[in-house]
Amino acid sequence: MANYTMHLAHLYGNLLNTYGDNGNLLMLKYLAKKMGIDLTTEIVSIHEAFIPEKYDLVFFGGGQDFEQLIVSEDIQDKKADITRYIENDGVMLAICGGYQLLGHYYMGAGGEKIAGIGALDHYTLSQDNNRYIGDIVIHNEEFDETYYGFENHNGRTFLGAGERPLGKVQQGHGNNNEDGSEGVIYKNVFGSYFHGPILARNEILAYRLLKTALAKKYGADKLTDLPSYERIADQTQQGVTSPTH
Ligand code: GLN
Repeated sequence: MANYTMHLAHLYGNLLNTYGDNGNLLMLKYLAKKMGIDLTTEIVSIHEAFIPEKYDLVFFGGGQDFEQLIVSEDIQDKKADITRYIENDGVMLAICGGYQLLGHYYMGAGGEKIAGIGALDHYTLSQDNNRYIGDIVIHNEEFDETYYGFENHNGRTFLGAGERPLGKVQQGHGNNNEDGSEGVIYKNVFGSYFHGPILARNEILAYRLLKTALAKKYGADKLTDLPSYERIADQTQQGVTSPTH
């Protein structure tokens, strides 16, 4: 029996879902179950209202420039509500194209300016005939955690006021191949260029997102039944190593 319930909005899930990004939802559901959370999800897409109060978590995936252009137009109508969700400490994971659209703008590979919503203070430039593609490893000093992933992007993102990187690049290119940063943390928003999908390869980050969302909904002192990450990881390990025949 689940001890907690949570509802997640998958922003433009039918348009922005490259490189297995939807796997992040599978991972959240898988882990939520182990944590005693009944997690339901819902796509919020073109011409649909985003009502911040309905959601405990938001996931926003990546995509090609073409889909991003379509989303860029529609998301202006959701700008105020998404910004309100973020400013009210709502928990969100945004990958690649979604991460770019939370910022001011993204210069597409064809030179077109794709407007973001400026809820976060970063902006994203283009590069000529090149993409950052390959395995990437970063370290987050604050949590002392290392994250592993695969990046594939044209955009070069530069962080702004109040934004700190998700981690320092140890291998790969990260936000812009210049300042050693990768991704972003702003309030309870986590942004990253990691596909892979990021949560499947970094279970500890999935746990952090779910726990943060639970603490916001129920109060940190009310999570007495919540298993620790170590206990969850232990169970996963046993599941993987136990003989199947
Ligand atoms: N189209 C964007 C870029 O190339 C985002 C790509 C993505 O989401 N993987 O930077």
